[in-house]
Amino acid sequence: MNRLIRWTAAFGAAVLLPLGPASVASAAPAVATTSARTADRLVEVPAAEAFEQAVDPSECGGPTLLDGYFDQQVQALAESGDLAFVAAHQDALFSVPTYDALFFGTAGDPDYALDTHAAQITNTFRDLRRFWDIESGDIQLMEMNGESLLDADRIARTLTLMVELGEIAPLTPEQIQTEATTVATYMQSHGDLYDNPLWTLNAFAFTAEGETDPLIKDLPDKLIMGKGIIEAYDAFGLGDVGPRAIMAHEFAHHVQFELGAFDDGPTDPAAATRRTELMADAMATYYATHKKGLALNAKRVTDALLSFYTVGDCVFDSPGHHGTPVQRQRAADWGADLAAAARPRSMVLPAADVIALFEDALPGIISGS
Ligand SMILES: [Zn+2]
Repeated sequence: MNRLIRWTAAFGAAVLLPLGPASVASAAPAVATTSARTADRLVEVPAAEAFEQAVDPSECGGPTLLDGYFDQQVQALAESGDLAFVAAHQDALFSVPTYDALFFGTAGDPDYALDTHAAQITNTFRDLRRFWDIESGDIQLMEMNGESLLDADRIARTLTLMVELGEIAPLTPEQIQTEATTVATYMQSHGDLYDNPLWTLNAFAFTAEGETDPLIKDLPDKLIMGKGIIEAYDAFGLGDVGPRAIMAHEFAHHVQFELGAFDDGPTDPAAATRRTELMADAMATYYATHKKGLALNAKRVTDALLSFYTVGDCVFDSPGHHGTPVQRQRAADWGADLAAAARPRSMVLPAADVIALFEDALPGIISGS
């Protein structure tokens, strides 16, 4: 089945917490209870999965910058005394800002206006539309932030749709109302907890093309930047490059949508995801390092891209598999090399040509030979 959301996680499916399970569990026993999240979700919410990993860590991958950042945020929640509440309401906290923007966000609405690095991100978006030769005028750029968590009505309408779409376990209207009121009331009295970067530590591309569900089939194409991921890049000194590299990766997914690249891949879901994710990395570095793109330093772009993921990257058979770090590195290098090889330097290849060249290179990117 077609994924409703072509969602590209800021970081993969299984971020490890150096924090370790014991400290989280002792701070918040409620975390040990089973989440109501269903197994096959429309939208991956990596921070939510990472939060669960804190309780049941896997043995894969090393920590990245983003892992460390995540750890710090969870520690801060423990120290402020909010971790038990967060654990008990993680479905709402980790999902509502994402789904609220997906279902209800529009580019002109101030609730979804870019805040941090707004000019830089808006300019990059405009530049990407010029750089890639696809139809992109209909893509709406917006921010997701935590403000929806202050508003019981916004929480309730989002949870209601999530239940209708089967994104979370069934809840009655009364249960939804209670949860919405509980979360909004708590957030209203706990400073800036509502805007904690954990709730929006991601970015994603969405298209409803091919979808038939009346609840979502008319949603416009979107590119949604999480306020949290932008703040995270600032925190580790990549604020100038990171958000733009991520946006270039997400925009590459829109190029893929437009050119039907999602339809041409392997039938195995894990191999299919790996292919489109590695391709998006390659297209991101092609754009970000190209003289006619951002002309950024290739190593900084690659560092920013790779700090983003580690994730599900050892879960080789997961549909969320993004490729191993070394495969991502090779894909990113490939894109930068392609940009560096442009003759004349200002020559930009049609997107379809970049994709075709990437397909030829993919076996080597995967195998390393
Ligand atoms: Zn992606």
